Amino acid sequence: MEELLEQLLEDCRHYTAQGKLANYIPELTKGNINDLGIYVVRSDGRHYQAGDYNKQFSIQSIVKPILLLLGLMDNGVDYVRSKIGVEATGKPFDAINVTDQQLLSDHLNPMVNMGAIAMCTLVKGADYQERFQRLLELTRLLAGNPDIQVDEAVYLSEKRTGNKNRALAFLLKSSGMIDDNVEQVLDCYFRACSIKVSCKDLANIGFALTNRGKMLQTDERLFPSQYARYVNAILMTCGMYDGSGDFAVKVGVPAKSGVGGGIMAVVPTRMGIGIFSPGLDDKGNSLAGIKVLERLSQRMYLSIF
Ligand code: GLN
Repeated sequence: MEELLEQLLEDCRHYTAQGKLANYIPELTKGNINDLGIYVVRSDGRHYQAGDYNKQFSIQSIVKPILLLLGLMDNGVDYVRSKIGVEATGKPFDAINVTDQQLLSDHLNPMVNMGAIAMCTLVKGADYQERFQRLLELTRLLAGNPDIQVDEAVYLSEKRTGNKNRALAFLLKSSGMIDDNVEQVLDCYFRACSIKVSCKDLANIGFALTNRGKMLQTDERLFPSQYARYVNAILMTCGMYDGSGDFAVKVGVPAKSGVGGGIMAVVPTRMGIGIFSPGLDDKGNSLAGIKVLERLSQRMYLSIF
């Protein structure tokens, strides 16, 4: 298996430089376009890795499924569903024009920015610092890594330049879909996106979703299996934004990308996968990362279809 991973990285290495580093968050332009790594955790407990699997990068949108999970753990399915919809948007992650009509909760999706910003308001906590801390703790638990921290430089960079997200948050506020102070909600969202992870962390988080809430080492249940079904279904239909249909055809597993270059893939009952390559395609998904996943899916018959 390790040989296969090495081979796939070798075959796909030339794609890394065909992508572009995200530049709308200035700090992300400091990434190395040639980085490429993968980590796989299988249901028998074995793990395999290759390339730059140890490098750290900001989680960015891959925090969205964790945020959704925490929203579900705090409020249950019915309440979350009543506040934030589940339809695939078919739009870019930061789309503002999700509807021509009045904005409704059914127009939101937890895997794109507006829905994820709204999701921050559903997390329980005395203030937004506590809400964020609870999200960070859940991320550490799912990854089995108590050392996970925020990348302060990425956080500050995104906070300074995140005016599109501000616009989305004010639109939510003006539509009556969030009540709280916009800047505090956004601060939680920006911090969430700046959590620093590795391929190994993503593979472990993905594994918790494939295993429907049960942790690999301890067999302890962190969340009900119903929540994993909910999250995985939305990952399948919208985890790669307006690239989700193409990804479903070519790879065929629930997955989530982030503009930091990470992809977390969830192969139901079989494996959690973490991939990193910061060169992005025009939809903001890791270009070489998708190529590696396509080949891995073909070789190991990973598609659920
Ligand atoms: N922090 C990024 C943003 O809000 C996350 C987007 C992404 O990873 N696609 O713009």
